[in-house]
Amino acid sequence: MNGDLRVGLDIGATKVLGAVVDNDGAVVAQSRQPTRLGAEGVLTTATSVLDSLAKDLDGVLPAHIGIGVCGIVDRDSGAVSHAVNLGIGEAFPLAALLADRTGAEVLIENDVLAATWGAHVVSGIDDLAFLSVGTGLAAGFVLSGKLRRGAHGAAAEVGHLPVDPDGPRCSCGQRGCLELSASGSTLAAAWPTDGQVPPAAALFAAAAAGNTEAVMIRDRFAGRLAEGIRILELSVGPDAIIIGGGVSHVGEPLLAAVAAALRAQAAGSPFLTALDLAGRTRLLPGQEPVGAIGAALIGNAGLTGNAGLTGSAGLTGSAGLTGSAGLTGSAGLIGSAG
Ligand SMILES: [Zn+2]
Repeated sequence: MNGDLRVGLDIGATKVLGAVVDNDGAVVAQSRQPTRLGAEGVLTTATSVLDSLAKDLDGVLPAHIGIGVCGIVDRDSGAVSHAVNLGIGEAFPLAALLADRTGAEVLIENDVLAATWGAHVVSGIDDLAFLSVGTGLAAGFVLSGKLRRGAHGAAAEVGHLPVDPDGPRCSCGQRGCLELSASGSTLAAAWPTDGQVPPAAALFAAAAAGNTEAVMIRDRFAGRLAEGIRILELSVGPDAIIIGGGVSHVGEPLLAAVAAALRAQAAGSPFLTALDLAGRTRLLPGQEPVGAIGAALIGNAGLTGNAGLTGSAGLTGSAGLTGSAGLTGSAGLIGSAG
């Protein structure tokens, strides 16, 4: 087996992306396939992606595989459950089944946390908040080089902080959650497209071209994201805030809008101004598959927090839109940072 290489699988509702990486997170092989839904379908797709990766490595798969998957994961049993967008309900022993098929050690992790670890690996930043803006809004922390999960796997579930007590009911059961106004779903509803261009990209292009309605929607959206970033800063205070997820593919125009909103929030507050949040917020570098990279190297994560349930579905008691997939990409139930 390839001793220095590891495999990461980022399993979302649209695609399964597999990557073979070295210990530094450099990708040496990649494969992606459309996800077949249902427990057996997910297993079949994952197996097929692994087969494809093995072919790139002269038929020899590395001995360590990590899975990042939406839903609730039980890292001890290797099972995933309540991943409704994958068609998985009851606990399904995905890691154990893949271990049987490959002979490898297989670890499993929530996809947002795996992507958070991947963001740490590719950025080289040891202390960060990863804000995943996709279908939903989710975040994760790496603090002093360790992944922070929280006692119930809900650390940094900033998308479900209620910011409007009179707002609409959220899938989590609360009212006015931040995610309801700061996610790819928000943009898709406010700026629908024919599907050829992702709504976020279309909206930002229209705003750049001077469409006043698009400017208003963009700035309101950026303002809500800035609120989320301010919450992460004032509660935990990481060195850097990294924006990823499907909406981040908009690129620099997104960062510029968020930075402008952060500066506007800080105007009149020497306290906030001194924190320089705009200067410490950045985009995920490049288009690295951080979900798969983080999954591959999750064994290095030095996890802190409870080793029990991962993911927020237990918290929200809902099959709703926690987390973040590519806006039009892998719309995982509880997040997928692709
Ligand atoms: Zn909520």
